[in-house]
Amino acid sequence: MTQSAHGRCHCGAVQLSVPRLPADVTECHCSICRRYGALWAYYKVKEVSFTGPTELYVWGRKYIAFHRCAKCGCVVAWTPRGDYPECAVNARMLEGLNLEIVRVIVEEDASG
Ligand SMILES: [Zn+2]
Repeated sequence: MTQSAHGRCHCGAVQLSVPRLPADVTECHCSICRRYGALWAYYKVKEVSFTGPTELYVWGRKYIAFHRCAKCGCVVAWTPRGDYPECAVNARMLEGLNLEIVRVIVEEDASG
């Protein structure tokens, strides 16, 4: 279970690396996540790396930034803009994630 996991966007320009595949993912129903259709897997910021050309989207209270591939547009992650220690990777980008067995936690709209 200590094996690292990898992912990428559709075109491959953005490569992701995380310490492990998630045991559960969060389907958030806030106004932006429901549009992205992302399934978030949470990690410590320092555990996650991604490389490649990304563009940022920041809105509302501006406490997190969403990263999307500058080429194909896949939303790959969000990162905090302050000192918050956690970030999230879009688990749909991860190789080897079996969505039939991973637990999906549905989070109702908390952001308005
Ligand atoms: Zn891409």
